[in-house]
Amino acid sequence: MTIELEPRGTETPPTPLPILSHWIDGRPVEVLPEQTGPVYNPATGQVIARVPRGGKPEVDAAVAAAMKAFPAWRDTPLIARSQIFFAFRELAWKHREELAALITKDHGKTFADALVGVTRGIETVEYACGLPVHLSGMNTPNVATGVDTVTLRQPLGVVAAITPFNFPVMVPMWILPIALAAGNAVILKPSSHTPSATQLQAELWKEAGLPDGILSVVYGGREAVTAIVEHPDIKAIQFVGSTPVGRYVYEEGTKRGKRVGAFTSAKNMMVVLPDTDLELAADAAVASGFGSAGERCMAQTLLVAVGGVADQLRPMILDRISRLKVDDGMKPGTDMGPIYTREHRASIIKWIDRGVEEGAELVVDGRPFVHPTNPEGFFLGVSLFDHVVPGMDIYNEEIFGPVLGIVRVDTYDEAIKLVNGHKYANGTAIFTADGGAARRYQLECEVPMIGVNVPIPVPAGFLSFSGAKESALGDLPMRGLDGLKFFTRQKEVTIRWPEPGKRPALSLVFPANS
Ligand code: NAD
Repeated sequence: MTIELEPRGTETPPTPLPILSHWIDGRPVEVLPEQTGPVYNPATGQVIARVPRGGKPEVDAAVAAAMKAFPAWRDTPLIARSQIFFAFRELAWKHREELAALITKDHGKTFADALVGVTRGIETVEYACGLPVHLSGMNTPNVATGVDTVTLRQPLGVVAAITPFNFPVMVPMWILPIALAAGNAVILKPSSHTPSATQLQAELWKEAGLPDGILSVVYGGREAVTAIVEHPDIKAIQFVGSTPVGRYVYEEGTKRGKRVGAFTSAKNMMVVLPDTDLELAADAAVASGFGSAGERCMAQTLLVAVGGVADQLRPMILDRISRLKVDDGMKPGTDMGPIYTREHRASIIKWIDRGVEEGAELVVDGRPFVHPTNPEGFFLGVSLFDHVVPGMDIYNEEIFGPVLGIVRVDTYDEAIKLVNGHKYANGTAIFTADGGAARRYQLECEVPMIGVNVPIPVPAGFLSFSGAKESALGDLPMRGLDGLKFFTRQKEVTIRWPEPGKRPALSLVFPANS
């Protein structure tokens, strides 16, 4: 559906503006323009599409379709189910550049970065192709005389995924294939800021053969999320986004008996020991701190420099910063695109102001950056602080922008104390040439995803992804076997086939396993 826009100036002709649709029961559900909100291209600051604002009626309709479709999907033979994942994998691969371009247009990140996000999502689809193996249960013979136990894993029913703006393909692809492979029907509630690639994903799942109703997409904000959290027929929710919203989903969802996993905000620290390859560490700090404009939950935004190494690293980082190209993410050669919204750009600027007020040394100031030909775009330059110390707000809080802070400590022990003392625990990295120090770090640090000379240690798509403290709520990591555990209910079936003439005598004693 398209509507005609009012011309912005006398010169501009009316432009047809795409209106995205909810996707319910295998088809788009069109909405009136007044039920939609704008989608911006952050590189130009222009509205490029409109996205529906859904709520309870749309969630109810999606759940009704899911409930209807679920029994047949649960009972679909595993090989037939896995064929759909093979087909979806091929379609997603074929359309990967299209998906990446849609991400860049809504989000602003570079096309190259968006493309890797798509392929890292496809890794989890590939894992799900092996679902007949992953879903096999366990058989324990002879738990008692003539008694065996069979462990089954069965789907929960209707489940939901609530996903953030920053990975509109990768994060849904980390959740959906696992939930669907386990035999569930899924309601996806993506971020309204970056919705364009979602529509295409829903279409590709249908083309791959996923039955209608097994995947629905409802756009919207708090109203749609509340409808999901309160719906009695939604059995589990995986949420990825900020800590305050994740806490709301977790607390309200679990209160209603749902299984909830929330993967939330972060402030990741990269520890650099003096013995490290400093060129590698400087590259890593710049790539991790400023890639995707710092809008990654695994960005290392605090560089903890041990034993005076900051004096050597700082000029090396400055040199790299001076060569970064900030531009439209679709332009080849761009290192960093714009910030995803005007409001978030303003919030990052406030954080930089705050760091200056708090007494950190602002070595590079990204605030004045204006794009020469797209001044309306949501661009910001990169910023570097030195002498950031614990207790500062810019040390404690997630900024989610291109702002890197150097923290100086004298010893490894001080560094690990800082890492373990932070309220967030998502990812961390250590840069060192000392295998013993790296080993110690893996064992001692309380952060669940660790890189050794790897700045963004996002585990491969077939492994689990987790968090701790304020970076995750819930018991199980997502993806991999843990994801399958999350999206299935385990049953233990205790079985006896009495031999003829050997029926046990009546006894009121608790059954002994003998
Ligand atoms: P967000 O919390 O604003 O939004 C996440 C989801 O919740 C979206 O679908 C959004 O529409 C919905 N939502 C937003 N406000 C809401 C409200 N008031 N009530 C109910 N629902 C609401 O997060 P975001 O800005 O989209 O994403 C950035 C955040 O996500 C950062 O904090 C980042 O660290 C985190 N993140 C975490 C991971 C992880 O795996 N730990 C991965 C990616 C992003």
